[in-house]
Amino acid sequence: MDRVINVNRGTYMLIGNYSTLKNTLSILFLFFITIVFSQPMTFTHNELSGIDTPKNSNNPFSLRGEVFIAFKKMQNAAALEGVHIKIVSSFRSFKRQQQIWNRKYTKYTNQELSPEEAINKIIEYSTLPGTSRHHWGTDIDIVLDVDSPPTSLLVPSNFDKNQVFYPLKKWMDANAYKYGFELVYTNTPNRKGFKYEPWHYSYIPIAKLMLSEYLICKTIHKLNQKNTSGSDYLSLKFINRYLKLNILEINPTLLSN
Ligand SMILES: [Zn+2]
Repeated sequence: MDRVINVNRGTYMLIGNYSTLKNTLSILFLFFITIVFSQPMTFTHNELSGIDTPKNSNNPFSLRGEVFIAFKKMQNAAALEGVHIKIVSSFRSFKRQQQIWNRKYTKYTNQELSPEEAINKIIEYSTLPGTSRHHWGTDIDIVLDVDSPPTSLLVPSNFDKNQVFYPLKKWMDANAYKYGFELVYTNTPNRKGFKYEPWHYSYIPIAKLMLSEYLICKTIHKLNQKNTSGSDYLSLKFINRYLKLNILEINPTLLSN
């Protein structure tokens, strides 16, 4: 009887040890897979959605340090050729974007547009709070610094041939990439999403990584739009379509390979 018990106990112990070993190996294997295949995120949800101010952004435009340095280099090089670049918009917080959105929503719905129509009108040029590339401290809106600027600066035709900001466009087309900057919303035929913005440039070395983490973290699906006007109309279907067209139909250079 004792032997049987001993044998059973021994068998049980053996099985127990084997199970424990198997579990330990499984955990180690999963741990190994996690380490090898999941890259740690560089940016937080709050950085990606404009809730936090960009890190190392102690400059007049609240751009990330590396972006500001690259911009100054580009600005100095352009100035040597008589092209004086002026930033009119850079970092913008979630709260600021929400104010812009809500103001436009009120304006358009007061013009008898339905909530859906108002939202579609807003997203021709303006982003849903938490989805602006201006939240990242990597993107800038620029014009030419001239003595008599037009009343409305950010109008595409200002950048057309022979128009006031054309020298800037011409210089940027030839040189921006050398400093890490690229146009985001190009005038490529059939491109959907935000309209052509010849003034909006992004610093690729950082913005590309931010966009890829924005997608991995599903940041857009985790935003709190409680205080965003028309939020009842921001269905999952709308968000997915917005992600596909407004966030991703951009200059392909800014997308990860
Ligand atoms: Zn912009």
